[in-house]
Amino acid sequence: MVWAKLEKFRCPACPLSLFTTPGDWVCARDRTPVFINEKGVMECGNGNHAGNVCKWGWTCGSQYHKGRFFVADLEGFVFATSQAQELTDQMGAKWVAELVRALGKQFKKTSSRPERESARKCAHLNFPVL
Ligand SMILES: [Zn+2]
Ligand SMILES: [Zn+2]
Repeated sequence: MVWAKLEKFRCPACPLSLFTTPGDWVCARDRTPVFINEKGVMECGNGNHAGNVCKWGWTCGSQYHKGRFFVADLEGFVFATSQAQELTDQMGAKWVAELVRALGKQFKKTSSRPERESARKCAHLNFPVL
């Protein structure tokens, strides 16, 4: 598995119409950077929190969140990935294609068996506190 740091990455939970500034993501629990691999699994820097993309809560601090964490949907996450040019350049087309395929499966499974509760309990993401 190849891990990529989630940097300069648009908030995948905000509506596509909202032009949010891409940011560097950290785990809200321990403030370590967040990594993603091509299987659609995310893990924080010290390995304490890991799980499928569909189970993580996100907040970028925009008006839309009103202080709350939201799970991303497939469309939002794929869009954010497509906008993260440095990441896709660095990881390459094959890695990105594999990620998108893995996410497609992952989100399909989730919608038939919602696990919203664990999504909220699971580690949350946030921008680093400046
Ligand atoms: Zn957001
Ligand atoms: Zn963590």
